Amino acid sequence: MPHRVSQKFVEKTLLSQARACPSNDLRYGWALKHFSQTEAGVQAVVTPVSGGADVAVHAAYLVGADGARSAVRHQLGIAWGGTTCIKRDFMGEKMFPVYLRAPDFYKALPHRKAWMYVTVNAQRRAFMASVDGDSEFAFHAAVHEGEDADA
Ligand SMILES: Cc1cc2nc3c(=O)[nH]c(=O)nc-3n(C[C@H](O)[C@H](O)[C@H](O)COP(=O)(O)OP(=O)(O)OC[C@H]3O[C@@H](n4cnc5c(N)ncnc54)[C@H](O)[C@@H]3O)c2cc1C
Repeated sequence: MPHRVSQKFVEKTLLSQARACPSNDLRYGWALKHFSQTEAGVQAVVTPVSGGADVAVHAAYLVGADGARSAVRHQLGIAWGGTTCIKRDFMGEKMFPVYLRAPDFYKALPHRKAWMYVTVNAQRRAFMASVDGDSEFAFHAAVHEGEDADA
């Protein structure tokens, strides 16, 4: 793949761009509790995740960018298209991810430097992808039926 970039780098760039616009009010650590549509727009209640009093918010629009289990999408009855939860031996259903820092990995590895390594054997496939091209990696293996990831 010619272009790859980890979300942790993309988000920093998006954040600095968003902060550069004075009309934006960016707040981390707040959760949307519920919302309703009114004649004038949207009325919502947000709460600080670290505890504290709820705050009522009135807005012209509400954007449901709250992830795969989006409460906004569910409340509005917006369904997904396509197929999901396909069970495969590799890359599907439940995955076991490990994020690791291994500064000497590339030095120790006797193979060519790559952005991703895949292991294949009769028991399991797994892959380890570079996050920063240097020392941070994301390892993923499928959790098979009947296996306990914690064990
Ligand atoms: C382990 C893993 C590896 C992945 N690897 C890849 C990959 O290599 N390539 C790829 O393309 N995709 C990958 N994905 C998928 C990708 O991360 C998602 O598709 C993408 O992040 C979805 O973006 P999003 O903005 O819709 O939701 P998210 O990134 O999930 O963002 C939703 C945000 O909404 C916030 N939120 C949720 N509920 C509330 C609430 N009530 N109030 C306030 N805020 C709320 C959450 O805290 C979160 O910040 C991976 C996902 C996982 C879990």
